[in-house]
Amino acid sequence: MGRMISATSVDLAGADAIYRPSMSRQLLLLSTSTAHGTQYLEHAVPEFKDFLGPARRVLFIPYALKDRDGYAAKARAGFRAMGYELDSIHESASPKQAIERAEALFCGGGNTFRLLDALYRQDLLDVIRRRVSEGLRYSGASAGSNVACPTIRTTNDMPIVEPPSLAALGIVAFQINPHYLDPEPGSKHMGETREERLLQFHEENEVAVVGLREGALLRVSDTSVMLKGLAGARIFRKGQAPVEVAPGAALEAWLGERGKSGGPF
Ligand code: ASP
Repeated sequence: MGRMISATSVDLAGADAIYRPSMSRQLLLLSTSTAHGTQYLEHAVPEFKDFLGPARRVLFIPYALKDRDGYAAKARAGFRAMGYELDSIHESASPKQAIERAEALFCGGGNTFRLLDALYRQDLLDVIRRRVSEGLRYSGASAGSNVACPTIRTTNDMPIVEPPSLAALGIVAFQINPHYLDPEPGSKHMGETREERLLQFHEENEVAVVGLREGALLRVSDTSVMLKGLAGARIFRKGQAPVEVAPGAALEAWLGERGKSGGPF
């Protein structure tokens, strides 16, 4: 049986330590907010419009960057261009109340450790989990996608701050590695490739990882995890060869999402 994770009770390595999908989960998880050669969020405009449905206002979580005012202004301009109003949670007197009342969430990218640390400090993880399980639409880019996972162990970021735990929202059962990069043929770089880093992750952990290339995104419901967007992804599972998947692919069967809830998975 899966179980809800909490900040204090987490099996970090187990695929068991995950959110149990409800009948109303709606997520949009982007590898990046800005695809090469396009404006902020531009590559995902049709997807956001479809995803947000009747929502008119989006609650923005800017904690991954230091300059929250500047970040909120940038996000506000991006969402206004799509026809939505944006409130930033850092402007709210009660961030918890803001989550309770939100029509939809967008969690921006930046440093994943700083983002998760702020979510812990403001005690927002449980309220976000609960509201997402009730159907609140959650969207995120990059660090905002990382924190949707059981842990932030597959981020590319440096631990510039130290959150109380690496356990994150766990609103999906798998890990994401955003901005996934293929090795450059002929490169003289001697550091680990991204693939090598993810293979190391599986030397210590069980959970499947989606290496999401820039421009790729995931649409997640209770019954499906669809790869969409401008690029493909590479799926890593412990003890198995990596698998290439193209936009349009249904990923749920690869990602340990089936059979977790007693429901459709
Ligand atoms: N720093 C990335 C971002 O843009 C997150 C990551 O690469 O893990 O949010």
